Amino acid sequence: MPSTLHDRVLAARARLDAAATAAGRDPASVRMMLATKTQDAATVLDAVAAATELAAARGDDAPVLVGENRVQELVAKAPALADLVAAGRLEVQMIGPLQRNKVNQMLPVVTGLASVDRLPLAEAVAQRCVRAGRTLDVLVQVNVSGEATKSGVTPADAPALAAAVARLDGLRLTGFLTIGARSDDTTVVRAGFARLRDVRDEVLASGAPGTADARDLSMGMSTDLELAVAEGATIVRLGTAVFGARPAA
Ligand SMILES: *Cc1c(COP(=O)(O)O)cnc(C)c1O
Repeated sequence: MPSTLHDRVLAARARLDAAATAAGRDPASVRMMLATKTQDAATVLDAVAAATELAAARGDDAPVLVGENRVQELVAKAPALADLVAAGRLEVQMIGPLQRNKVNQMLPVVTGLASVDRLPLAEAVAQRCVRAGRTLDVLVQVNVSGEATKSGVTPADAPALAAAVARLDGLRLTGFLTIGARSDDTTVVRAGFARLRDVRDEVLASGAPGTADARDLSMGMSTDLELAVAEGATIVRLGTAVFGARPAA
């Protein structure tokens, strides 16, 4: 593995580009999200700086993407990221399970919520967004593997949840998120990603109110990004590939 954080950001991006090219896709259609759990604010800022520099060199003017799993970490790192977010250079998404009693803490420090897995949670978030006069980007999390340890609505229930979420004032449904199956069988992992794409396509084709922007497929992590990109990922969430191995939880 390349030694510096800067080099690893470049190497991760090169992997995404190669995967996109192999799949006959435009590399620019795949965004890299820095999955920053357990990394301190200074490290996150270094990675964001490297990703920003790289994006500029590629002529990519989309904001850099950061994903956090825990509200406590979001809040702790928010001051370091606030200026970049305010300048429109950085988007910060919550990508972990969210309890309703943490919504108020989370909202001021995120630009998006990618782990909506039940309607009451979406309604609670929406109500607060309306009160604050803002619109939050949200993704519906789908459990494509059926593994009990994973959050997310079932693929069968996902279109109905997406339609219900899309109708809520204060939220903008921008797509879907999944965590790939924990399997050595690439066929199984890939089929799960294809399933998420099918859900997305079904929702887009439905023409249901508020679903027209639901194009994002947030799928793929450090070990399975090639499979996810092959199945149409538009956002790939990378932790280990960028930051190295995390200490055991
Ligand atoms: C930790 C995490 C990632 C990144 O995982 P790596 O295997 O380290 O790339 C992506 N998505 C979610 C939801 C995560 O919790």
